[in-house]
Amino acid sequence: MSINKNSSPLKLPENCLYCKASFGEKDVDLVDEIGGNSVYHLTCHNCGVSFIFHLVLGREGILSVGTMTDAGKEDLDKLKRGENITADDVISAYMEARKANQRK
Ligand SMILES: [Zn+2]
Repeated sequence: MSINKNSSPLKLPENCLYCKASFGEKDVDLVDEIGGNSVYHLTCHNCGVSFIFHLVLGREGILSVGTMTDAGKEDLDKLKRGENITADDVISAYMEARKANQRK
């Protein structure tokens, strides 16, 4: 399987969203790549904050969705190996959101 190294710019941030330090190559890990979608894990070498960036190849070009995360690389490796924890996470997040709405 060949890796398509085209020149399309990836919209990963160049600087930490938290402390503005520049990300280095070692700070960026490609976690998974499915079709045109890529998931990157970034850990700032300066402040230690981790980010998840999901790059989605859409009709409009590459969209990036990023968030700060507590998940370390170990957790991402589990996800990558297909350990079935994501569905539960989604459901519990949904239930929490429902509960929060009902309290209002
Ligand atoms: Zn930082």
